[in-house]
Amino acid sequence: MESRPNILFIMSDDHAAHAISAYGSRINQTPHLDRIAQGGLRLDNCFCTNSICTPSRASILTGQYGHVTGVKGWEPLDNRRPIQLQKLLQGAGYATAIFGKWHLGCGLTDSVWKDDNRAPGAVPADPAGFDEWCVLPGQGLYFDPQFHTAQGTVRHEGYVSDIVTDLSLDWLEQKRDHDKPFFLCVHHKAPHREWEPGPAYQHLYEDEEIPQPETFNDNYTGRPAAAAAKMRILGDLERKDVKADPPDGLSEAELKNWYYQRYIKDYLRCVASVDASVGRLLGYLDQNGLAENTIVIYTSDQGFFLGDHGWYDKRFIYEESLRMPFLLRYPHEIAAGGVGEAMLTNTDFAPTLLDFAGIETPREMQGTSARAMLRGQTPPGWQKALYYRYWNNGGHGVAAHYGVRTLTHKLIYFYSLPLGTHNSSDSPALEPYWELFDLTQDPQELNNIYGDPANADLVRELKRELERLQTQLGDERIHG
Ligand code: CA
Repeated sequence: MESRPNILFIMSDDHAAHAISAYGSRINQTPHLDRIAQGGLRLDNCFCTNSICTPSRASILTGQYGHVTGVKGWEPLDNRRPIQLQKLLQGAGYATAIFGKWHLGCGLTDSVWKDDNRAPGAVPADPAGFDEWCVLPGQGLYFDPQFHTAQGTVRHEGYVSDIVTDLSLDWLEQKRDHDKPFFLCVHHKAPHREWEPGPAYQHLYEDEEIPQPETFNDNYTGRPAAAAAKMRILGDLERKDVKADPPDGLSEAELKNWYYQRYIKDYLRCVASVDASVGRLLGYLDQNGLAENTIVIYTSDQGFFLGDHGWYDKRFIYEESLRMPFLLRYPHEIAAGGVGEAMLTNTDFAPTLLDFAGIETPREMQGTSARAMLRGQTPPGWQKALYYRYWNNGGHGVAAHYGVRTLTHKLIYFYSLPLGTHNSSDSPALEPYWELFDLTQDPQELNNIYGDPANADLVRELKRELERLQTQLGDERIHG
């Protein structure tokens, strides 16, 4: 009798925790996602180590930071690398599959990709370690998308969230080896830009006004990098995002709210399709007696600004984009209804799942298994600070930066330098500078207290912590 757990890993793209009702969303309901939390637990301090799609996905599979994976922006993940979660699980006898967004280099058809990875001499970056894979090229399309598979390219008609779910259920029912435990990655494209809702949700929220976040009209005082960012609801959203022209005669505040409503409603409609997908997958587990011995994880590759600070998009170390939703259900081992406060990063995912599967974490992985923490037995000495680095100087006008987040504070250094190729035409002309936030007093990170002489000791302590993490993890120090 197989005792090792099945693993159903569901990841959406750009789904912020504050658009999940289990996390107290003020703007939507996600009943199926909430079922995972109710039957298991919700982590409140799960964070990415670089808030953009590709690096986070590489960190999840390798347990490593971007300076080690080499995936700092949109580089492909070399599929010859042996230390990848799915390869280790497959090697230990798991049936493995992935459906949906890959974004680690397969079929580089996006405009951001400079080369085709299938060209001679390119880094091989098709998914490896999966018995079956069917993934979107680049970002993929919402409607009638193409997919790459080991057998070639196929096109499926319909809405992408439904198709990814259908393919996943078909594999669970028909195609997998039923004598093995499974590791199934369901990687939704939704709710990534440009937020195109499926047919079932076109009219959701139609007659409603979605509340604005508290920091909607942030004026970025004391935060030049924030002021320079080009991700504003009013000014940077494009027609392709909002899919209509604004009515004439609106005041600036009314116009900003018009853009926000257009954006957030489509975003939430896309989220609704993911929630429905999760409902179908959980239903399959229930109907087939698999719920007890299957680890179900729901997460996203990073967070997102949902009008917070007047923005859409991500990239910053600020809370809304740094935080990943993390819901986990595993009735066999984890009590229902818990809320975890201990800190987790995306480099801990692979060691954690390997631990559940009874596989030793390779020493090349930089993360740590959180299995004990998830059981409510957080070990003494568990991490109390995380290291973050955003490399892509200028993407959406966001300056390159690194920083440390502790349980109570955040220290950020905007070095704002192009390093290697990680520079774009949007690079802001910023002098390098620091930001410091007291998350207990200022959870919205509006008040940069770095320059206050009263904080000199705190700054010294946090810089020591930042440098300790850089040394431990092997990243370079740029600040003086
Ligand atoms: Ca993403």
